[in-house]
Amino acid sequence: MTTHHRTCHLCEANCGVLVDVEDDRISAIRGDDNDPLSLGYICPKAYAMKDLHEDPDRLVRPMIKREGEWHEAAWDEAVAFAADGIHRVQREHGVSGMASYLGNPSAHHLAAILGGSTFLKALGSKVRFSASSVDQFPRMLAAYFIFGAQLGVPVPDLERTEHLVIMGANPLVSNGSLMTAPGMKRRLREIRERGGKVVVIDPRRTETAKAADEHVFLRPGTDALLMLAIIHVLFAEGLVSLGKCEHRVDGVARLREQAAGFAPELVAEACGIDAATIRRLACEFARAESSAFYSRIGTCVQSYGTLASYLVDVVNILCGRIDRPGGMMFPQPAVPLSSRGHYAKWHSRVRGIPEFGGEIPAATMAEEIETPGQGQIHGIFTLAGNPVLSCPNGTRLDAAFASLDFMVSVDPALNETTRHADVILPPRRTLEDGNYSAVLLQLAVRDTAKFSPAVFEPTPDSKNEWEILGALTAAVAERRERDGDEDGAKRARTMADTFFAKPLEEMLGALVAAGPYGITLQDLMDNPSGMDFGALKEGGLDRLRGHEDKKLHLTHQEIDAELVALRADLEAGEIRGVSLPASSPGNSSSTEDGFLLIGRRQLRSNNSWMHNCPTLIKGRNRCTLLMNVADAARLGVSDGQNVQVRSRVGEVRVPVEITDDMMDGVVSLPHGFGHSRPGIRAKLAAENAGVSMNDLTDDAALEGLMGNGVLTAVPVSVSH
Ligand code: SF4
Repeated sequence: MTTHHRTCHLCEANCGVLVDVEDDRISAIRGDDNDPLSLGYICPKAYAMKDLHEDPDRLVRPMIKREGEWHEAAWDEAVAFAADGIHRVQREHGVSGMASYLGNPSAHHLAAILGGSTFLKALGSKVRFSASSVDQFPRMLAAYFIFGAQLGVPVPDLERTEHLVIMGANPLVSNGSLMTAPGMKRRLREIRERGGKVVVIDPRRTETAKAADEHVFLRPGTDALLMLAIIHVLFAEGLVSLGKCEHRVDGVARLREQAAGFAPELVAEACGIDAATIRRLACEFARAESSAFYSRIGTCVQSYGTLASYLVDVVNILCGRIDRPGGMMFPQPAVPLSSRGHYAKWHSRVRGIPEFGGEIPAATMAEEIETPGQGQIHGIFTLAGNPVLSCPNGTRLDAAFASLDFMVSVDPALNETTRHADVILPPRRTLEDGNYSAVLLQLAVRDTAKFSPAVFEPTPDSKNEWEILGALTAAVAERRERDGDEDGAKRARTMADTFFAKPLEEMLGALVAAGPYGITLQDLMDNPSGMDFGALKEGGLDRLRGHEDKKLHLTHQEIDAELVALRADLEAGEIRGVSLPASSPGNSSSTEDGFLLIGRRQLRSNNSWMHNCPTLIKGRNRCTLLMNVADAARLGVSDGQNVQVRSRVGEVRVPVEITDDMMDGVVSLPHGFGHSRPGIRAKLAAENAGVSMNDLTDDAALEGLMGNGVLTAVPVSVSH
């Protein structure tokens, strides 16, 4: 038996694992006690690394679709087919007639993230989509506004904080998101054991809420109102203390004026939280020895997602918690990815949505494909993504993909999205490649670095994403050269010859050597469980490549406009067209059969691609609609009964799970299910199909500043 050190690549948490191999098969997967970040923790998904490695449905040969039938192909043939299709679309419809979508797993794998970003430069299309605009861009846009860098997202210093507030996140299940924090159960326990307090604010009493000192129900979609009320209290009670940010924050006086109109009493009914509780939450946070306010996906994916995320940062700033031990700090990874980014340099063609970081929101993908005219998308390149299940109004997107002239997918799965491709180029199994988690360590709650060498020899005639995309880039360059497209050919040829020509590990070696610790690839090899650079370090604001003046900016006309809109909504009793309850705080927000739908993350799942793992999918049906006891009684629904859930764009039939964990008037579906569409190759997933939450989410509803899809507080009706 041999034992191999790896970092689990299945979610953002980056747990260290030991993979035991006997007779060329995985015999055990264990947590690595010596990993300085995870300290031996793993979740049940880690065992699914074996399922994924041995998945009989995984594509191992390139596939070309001819007259509706899939055929295996040699690499040369498939790459040439893909390059011909890309070149044809770009020649006939312009460079941006060929769009791209990068899925979430691409951020977990060095070959995919470096290969994908390099290929997109060669492709040259400005029409780019990714999973980031499904669930995290509002958080990044808030960081861009305040700190001047889209990747300048601070993380809570979990190792030292005395008071942690978690809003719209369930890290006990996710182990952190935009916060790489394996072993959250232990981390929360340690905060409480050292006399600290953990508060969870969420429309559902989540697994994290049950492990906290206090849970407060918040009506979905009203996070920005709550944050404004907290800011109001901070000013009113004289609790604003900027600490080390004293001379580097602008706009504080103006903020005070803006928050004046959002007293706790004015927002209490909308938020479903009484005013006294809001005041207490604000005072406890400000008066704690140290404190950190962390918000995540639930706060991001609402119609005021950027504003709400921005106001969370503002509360941390006003209480002097930024860049301070026990507060919100900036990691110093071994490979710093310092991208300032940009915003609203151009706008999407159909609805005029501002670009952010060179992307437009995935929620606009269907309309950009369907709407004729200059700039219409005629082809798409996807990498490790399944937007049909993960983006709003999946039914419409499904049909839009079917209408494309050409589609190429780099993906090991024949899933609900890649079934529309003309050619699929499957990367080799992840455990057959070395890996370094360059993206996720940007957001880790401790500074560490670790290289994961390959566990297995590569399958003969297999390629990783770096090799596939290198070959595709060279093939596209050839076609452009042949047709005399000098600029396009030069762009692709440069990428092929300058970047893709280098072995990936050489690229990694150069990146870590240039980083703040000056380490080498050999250093990483010599420390198989990882290198520990210690707790989060002060000075992050100085290290950040943010605003030129090094200040934190709290004056933005875009934010002002959102505040005006929110104020008008509050007076009108709605949040961007979704009615707020007329009842008193704590009472149901449902009308007779009307509810607000929220999503949920599950420990034995992550995204759509995990439902084909026997280890994870076994057991009871987990694709259920959570509903409050009182709401179920009022509707006459019993536990396990199938109900019809309808939204403006679609309907699904799903069993109800009755619980007192849900806020009145709010129902919840997990995401990533809905594997009943024909033509996928995922036997177990199809047998446990469930329904897709995104057949209910509405692509007409967009977040106000960057057009992120609205995936929470979706108005639905429930009937039986
Ligand atoms: S939390 Fe689970 S899935 Fe995520 S990295 Fe750790 S073991 Fe893997």
